[in-house]
Amino acid sequence: MPTVSLPAAPSPGVGTRRLRVRRVVNTAIVAASSSSPTPDALADKKVVVLGGGIIGNSCAYFLSRRGVPCTVVERVEIAAAASGKSGGFLAGGWGDGSVTQPLHRESFRLHEQLAAELGLKTYRKIPTLSVAGGARMALDPPVSWLDGDVASARLMDDATAQVTPLELTTRLHEEAMKLPGSRTVFGEVVNVTTTESDSSGGGTRVAAVTVRDETTGTTASLDADVVVVAMGPWSTRASEWFPDVQVPMTGVKSVSLVYDASNAVADEPAALFCAEDRNGCHLEVYPRSTGEVYICGCGGSEYIDEERLMPGGDLERADAVTPDQKRVDAASRSFKGLSPGVGGAGPRVSQSCMRPCPPDALPYLGAVPGVDGAYLACGHNCWGILWAPVTGKIMSELVVDGKSSIDLEAFDPGRFMSAAQKRGKKIKGVNVGEQW
Ligand SMILES: Cc1cc2nc3c(=O)[nH]c(=O)nc-3n(C[C@H](O)[C@H](O)[C@H](O)COP(=O)(O)OP(=O)(O)OC[C@H]3O[C@@H](n4cnc5c(N)ncnc54)[C@H](O)[C@@H]3O)c2cc1C
Repeated sequence: MPTVSLPAAPSPGVGTRRLRVRRVVNTAIVAASSSSPTPDALADKKVVVLGGGIIGNSCAYFLSRRGVPCTVVERVEIAAAASGKSGGFLAGGWGDGSVTQPLHRESFRLHEQLAAELGLKTYRKIPTLSVAGGARMALDPPVSWLDGDVASARLMDDATAQVTPLELTTRLHEEAMKLPGSRTVFGEVVNVTTTESDSSGGGTRVAAVTVRDETTGTTASLDADVVVVAMGPWSTRASEWFPDVQVPMTGVKSVSLVYDASNAVADEPAALFCAEDRNGCHLEVYPRSTGEVYICGCGGSEYIDEERLMPGGDLERADAVTPDQKRVDAASRSFKGLSPGVGGAGPRVSQSCMRPCPPDALPYLGAVPGVDGAYLACGHNCWGILWAPVTGKIMSELVVDGKSSIDLEAFDPGRFMSAAQKRGKKIKGVNVGEQW
């Protein structure tokens, strides 16, 4: 992609430098199945999406399908965090009966549609098995590569699917950037500035996003009519930018492993949900379409509080998140026990990432109260890959139509506001466990 430079705003004490910007030149956008033409005014809206994970890029993609170009601002690289390192397991029915049911159902449907639109190589339907380790079972296991100590393995759900998150995030980004006027800015978002709103009710509206080049320390100001905060666990910084809104968040940091491709796994794919074992693991095993095996559920997840995610914290950047070797070793032992044929050689990749977890484990989706043009799309916990398409669709509807086709009441970004908080008291995140 061609690289151009943005004029940078002067910043006290640091002079004027230039930010790294990638602008994508006029290429036709991929045919959209449900897009409708939008007035030119929408193409002129300055929409800035904060965060280049799967949620930010899905928002940019769905907005591009409605004819709205976006600037995506990313601090490290596209899919640098969980969106490049997580499982990609998709289950449409696992939210049934809860407030997240419409997110699960609609997004599961959209994943299949997107896989065709984007020409994804890694999306596929796979069955899911429930597995318990222990003494070897008498009957043959349902997949031949479970050739170790497996006490039971039964079908749990035959209507599940998977996608490799890195491929989906990257493709969403590439396609969104094809709309003329779209661009990617690499730098750290340090502020969102607001100004008095033109609307009759008073209040404020977003005006600009301040982006810092971490290599030079210089800042630039990007004009904005609309800002979508999609920075995963780091979205808690929005509490500083919109003082009347609290965005409490815990980053739940977990290890994951990737094993080399195996023919047996490629020929007999099945996702596995394993019972807690003697190594403290509850493995989730997701064979990739390549025959590689991705594993998470390695146990011992660490709960990262807001201070560690905020500026100056040890995990303020995605590339500072590293794996705990004890959990790598424990999970490697567990998988080798279940599948010596595939797991015997040990993992090729060991890594770590965080899922963004609000205190009630529900995402923040919708408009920021009292600030016109500001939206939150974050806190997707363990379902961010599944819910990315529906989140993009919702945000495009809010920006273009002014309303969402899905009821967002339970996901209201203002739900942790209270009279006490408005007076400046801050809520703390609570431990919500490792539940799905
Ligand atoms: C081990 C593990 C396995 C998982 N498995 C699944 C699964 O199977 N299915 C599923 O549906 N979900 C799964 N998830 C959850 C899913 O991965 C997350 O919910 C999702 O990736 C969150 O996406 P995001 O875009 O909100 O955040 P992230 O992927 O965290 O992206 C946020 C981005 O914002 C950037 N950023 C942060 N601060 C700034 C700043 N100041 N300025 C600019 N950019 C900034 C970061 O660099 C990062 O790139 C899993 C999570 C984990 C940890």
